[in-house]
Order: sequence, then structure tokens, then C-alpha cells
Amino acid sequence: MMHNFNAGPSILPREVLQQAAAAVLNFNNTGLSILEFGHRTQEFTAVMEEARQLVKELMQLDADHEVLFLHGGASTQFMQVPMNLLDAKECMAIADTGVWSSKAIKEAKLFGKVDIVCSSKEKNYTYIPKDFAIPNDAKYFHITTNNTIYGTQWQQIPQCSSSLVADMSSDILSRQMDFNRFDLIYAGAQKNMGPAGVNLVVVNKNILGKVKRAIPTIMDYRNHIAEKSMLNTPPVFAVYVSMLTLRWLKAQGGIKAIEKINNAKAALLYQAIDESSLFTGTVAKEDRSKMNVCFVMGNENIEKEFIQYTRALGIAGIKGHRSVGGFRASLYNALPISSVEVLTRAMRDFENGQRA
Ligand SMILES: *Cc1c(COP(=O)(O)O)cnc(C)c1O
Repeated sequence: MMHNFNAGPSILPREVLQQAAAAVLNFNNTGLSILEFGHRTQEFTAVMEEARQLVKELMQLDADHEVLFLHGGASTQFMQVPMNLLDAKECMAIADTGVWSSKAIKEAKLFGKVDIVCSSKEKNYTYIPKDFAIPNDAKYFHITTNNTIYGTQWQQIPQCSSSLVADMSSDILSRQMDFNRFDLIYAGAQKNMGPAGVNLVVVNKNILGKVKRAIPTIMDYRNHIAEKSMLNTPPVFAVYVSMLTLRWLKAQGGIKAIEKINNAKAALLYQAIDESSLFTGTVAKEDRSKMNVCFVMGNENIEKEFIQYTRALGIAGIKGHRSVGGFRASLYNALPISSVEVLTRAMRDFENGQRA
């Protein structure tokens, strides 16, 4: 039994993996593999429709919000969003909360003006900025709701009159929110929603078609909406496994139910960190992420020893990102609370000297 704390690609529910494995050999009793199946068939069209419908239902989206499954990962959205929303003379506002927002800034500058309204860079992104103003003429305001590398998360979505755009790659479907407040949400599937290779985009169709530039066909959200996310061959297998994961989430009781469990998992691990004299949390307490928990020991040799010790217990993926060091335990939807219990017990046992 492994305990998978990987940051991404990351843990998927066991039953989803079993269903996906079965469909690789025989998809829907067709006698063919999902990997060798036409995307224009009735069977696969039904998969795409169910996936889009499940997102609408789980996120309680209104009729203006369209759901797309696109190629290219979240990194493609760093450029596709401004290409579709920002004219050359217009300005977008953005909160710089880490590497991913920095990349969104770099790409947006190719299309229009960028106003970085706040940044936590000077403290290696260990907190979420609170004191900032969004200019009235900003076309939209972009935030990264959860900062995967540093372990910070916006607990409150900032009040603002401008249009809201969010990179939700690492906390999508993990907590309740008024998703209709956002005009555009994007998320690479591989953290909390499915395997790598597909990108979820939720977009309010009323904001599209306002820029003057010509948009390449495959980059224009309107074309994907018109074709029900089947403009070209979609990443069939990644969409299929995402659909299975969405079904699984619905069966768990949806976002409300999973949020409760996510809260309990994070509370358990942060408690262990706060009670320890060996481990220290790296971010401001009020901004702690419930998805990616970062902590250090301050001594690389003992850190290595701890990784070694936990490996023998089946704990995988807790090594921190190189820019933070130490440890990062990702507690995505599919991770059971029992895995967090194994980790916290290992932390206590290690601290008490019961090393392997
Ligand atoms: C992982 C991640 C990305 C990059 O996703 P890709 O699919 O690799 O392009 C972007 N933003 C956030 C918040 C992430 O966690």
C-alpha cells in the first residue's frame, strides 16, 4: 500500500485506475481499447458530454459558463487567455504569488499591458498579499488560487469590480466557491482532476469576441464552444479518466463533502507540524494551503534521512520543490485521510528517535 503525496501528476482514486485499466483493454464492451477508439463515435461523444456536464453540476455553473477540455496544459492558458481577452492597448491586473503567476505575466505581456498589483516575491512567496488595489480600467484580474510550489492559497477570493480570471490548477474541485463569479477558470487536470494531457477551461461566453486581433482557429475559445470541445481530436484517454474522476467525486458527495475531508486532512498535518520541534511550516499560517503542505527541518542531512525513513513506510512524493527545499505533501482529493495519518505518525516516530 503506497501513500502518494506527489504534487503532479498525482494520486487518482484506486477505483478510477481500475476502470481506466479495464477500458484500455475493452471500452464499454465494444471489444476495442479506449486508446484505439474514434473520438467522433457516439460512445466517446457521450464521454465528453458527461465530463462537461459533471463539471457544470459539481461547480454549479450558470448557463453563461461553458466547459471545455483543451490540449496543452495550464501553461497554454498563460497565453491563450490574454490572446482571447486582452487587446494590445488594454491592461490586465495580476497578483504575483509565485512561479506560475510569473509565467502568466510573461505571456500576457506578449498581448497587452500588465499591471502587477502585488507580489510576495520578496519573501519567496510565503504569503498571499492582502494590501493592493485593482485599477478601474483593468480588463481582468488574474489570481493563482493555490500556489502549488510554495503551499499558499487564497482563503478568500478578493472583492473586485473587474472581471476575474483564475489559474485553479492545484485546487480545482477541492473547495466550495461561487465559481460563477469568475469569467474564466483554467486548470491542468493532473493535480486534482485526472491524468496529465488535458486542461479544464470554464469560460463565461459573454466575455469572448471583444478583442480586435485575429485569433488562430485552435486558440479561439468560441470555436471550441461551438464544437462542444471537439474542434479537433481531444486527448481522448485523459478526458475519459477525468470523466471517471468526476463521477467518483460526485459519488463522494461532490465538492462540499470532499472539502470537509480536505479540511480534516490539512488540519491533521498542520497540527503535527505545529506540535513538532523538528519540523517547521514555511508559510504564513493564515495563508496555508490545504492542498500542498510545505515544511522543512533546516538540516539537509536529517531531511534526507527522513525521506529514507518514510520510503520504507510506502510514503511517496514528499520531497519539496527545489526552490523551497524540505518537504511538500500534496493532499489532493483522492488522497485518503489514512495516508495523512501514516505520515503524521512517521513524523512523530522519527522525532522520538524510533528511526528505522
Ligand atoms: C502545475 C501548474 C501549472 C502548469 O501546468 P502544466 O499543465 O504543466 O502546464 C500551472 N499553474 C499551476 C498553479 C500549477 O500547479
